[in-house]
Amino acid sequence: MSEEKSIFTRIIEGEIPCFKIFENEYVYSFLDINPVCPGHVLVIPKEPASYLHELSPESSSELGKALPRICKSIIEITGASNYNVIQNNGSEAGQTVFHVHFHIIPKYPESTHSFTWKTVKLDKKAALELSQKISDNIE
Ligand code: AMP
Repeated sequence: MSEEKSIFTRIIEGEIPCFKIFENEYVYSFLDINPVCPGHVLVIPKEPASYLHELSPESSSELGKALPRICKSIIEITGASNYNVIQNNGSEAGQTVFHVHFHIIPKYPESTHSFTWKTVKLDKKAALELSQKISDNIE
């Protein structure tokens, strides 16, 4: 974790302005400054963790509770019944701000953005080994 305050910690502390959506003891939410489309919202923990796997159980649980409430409000207010929730970890995964954040991005009938990727067929033998290893490693 970086020693320097992230831009999002500075937003939480009121040093940098934002269009605030939600705040409680653990969670903060505001409009993305460079939205993909209207209603593109960021939801962040107040805990200054860089990556999702570093978050405390308290922050994770509060984020989990806040996300559906904020999604519900966004779709009711924007009229977009479809949306994506995206969360990037690491620069190669597209992360540019190293403070955990979830993007909520509405998808309107006229939206042209897409989040697609190429897939391969799952190899059953490798899948069995990998799923067991990951499962056994969960703390
Ligand atoms: P990511 O690429 O997943 O790290 O996303 C970081 C997001 O933070 C981008 O979509 C930026 O537009 C957004 N962002 C950066 N600075 C600000 C800011 N001051 N206020 C609101 N959103 C911001």
